[in-house]
Amino acid sequence: MTMRRTITILGATGSIGTSTLDLVERDPEAFEIVALTAQRDVAGLAAAARRTRARLAVIGDETLIAPLREALAGSDVEAAAGADAIAEAAALGADWTMAAIVGTAGLRPTMAALGHGRTVALANKESLVSAGALMTEAARQAGATLLPVDSEHNAVFQCFPHHDVSQVKRVILTASGGPFRTMPRDEMARVTPAQAVKHPNWSMGAKISVDSATLMNKGLELIEAHHLFPVGADRFAVIVHPQSVVHSMVEYVDGSVLAQMGTPDMRTPIAHTLAWPKRMGTPCAPLDLAEVGRLDFEEPDLGRFPALGLAMAALAAGGARPAVLNAANEVAVAAFLDGRIGFLDIVLIVEKVLERYDPAPPASIDEALAIDAEARAVARTATELQTA
Ligand code: NAD
Ligand code: MG
Repeated sequence: MTMRRTITILGATGSIGTSTLDLVERDPEAFEIVALTAQRDVAGLAAAARRTRARLAVIGDETLIAPLREALAGSDVEAAAGADAIAEAAALGADWTMAAIVGTAGLRPTMAALGHGRTVALANKESLVSAGALMTEAARQAGATLLPVDSEHNAVFQCFPHHDVSQVKRVILTASGGPFRTMPRDEMARVTPAQAVKHPNWSMGAKISVDSATLMNKGLELIEAHHLFPVGADRFAVIVHPQSVVHSMVEYVDGSVLAQMGTPDMRTPIAHTLAWPKRMGTPCAPLDLAEVGRLDFEEPDLGRFPALGLAMAALAAGGARPAVLNAANEVAVAAFLDGRIGFLDIVLIVEKVLERYDPAPPASIDEALAIDAEARAVARTATELQTA
């Protein structure tokens, strides 16, 4: 009998979390669920925990502990609540942990999972942007394996098997260009949250969908790539590829360019991290290139999408600049989704916060979280001024 692998999913009710559950639940003999976590979706969390016979279900919002207990009544699933309980669940040490909380809220739980020296599949890019050096160093010290779930980084990982940076000329991240790829800037001023979250190729959570529309997502991904593949900040490039079939590329010194392709379905990169170093079957539609017909590529337009330029500058400057950029963006995107600011205000707010707050690089996770909190406070003030 082969041992079942123990699994924890942080952010189990989100887009990545439910895609992960979809794969895991297809093979109940292979996987045993330790913990599932969510922030507010009690019904979704309880249903998943019951179906998978999870040991523990944790809801982030402490006021929801009673409804969670009620929803789990009669099952063997233990219930807990609060941010600390999520980090404790991550620290239980599953063989494989999916880090799929959105935002820097995922930083502490992801660090707790890494501390066990097992495998962490990382979707939560914001935590890597905010504290990448601390996180990769913690993974190294604990002997943990950090596997990239983000489709671009998973593609690079697959095209970069030996991790010999001296042979790599460029790492080229592809970007779909988002729903406003061809839209003039004056029209962008009027787009609604509903339009912004309607991604042409991928179905994702609201925050990353808005990031894809501003191209901030690609900026965050450049910083993410820099931590995962340390080839040097000047050796990354972005190319817009509207079909989202080529998920990213690695160019070698001899002129060879390796690409990873597939239909835009996050279950493929998730399955890659779940089975790694082996492969597993997925229900994803096979790539039919004849049906796709053509693959287009174009340079990103930094004039219409200034968020990408801001992120590039933050990457080049290093230190705490990426953390400030990320925190300000989280606040501004939430304000846009709330209908409090316009689409173009998002990047204006990020720019203002970067001008006003320039802390020294964090030496610990506590310092990284303090910088994140301060940058959010500055961003909230900038958001209020923008709405006044
Ligand atoms: P989502 O909004 O659909 O889900 C987020 C999950 O995190 C939910 O389970 C939610 O309950 C939980 N959560 C939210 N706020 C929390 C908090 N403060 N504390 C604890 N838990 C909290 O988001 P998603 O699209 O699944 O994205 C998750 C992460 O994966 C993000 O960092 C995103 O950038 C990254 N990612 C997503 C995709 C995608 O296709 N959706 C692709 C690449 C990377
Ligand atoms: Mg991506």
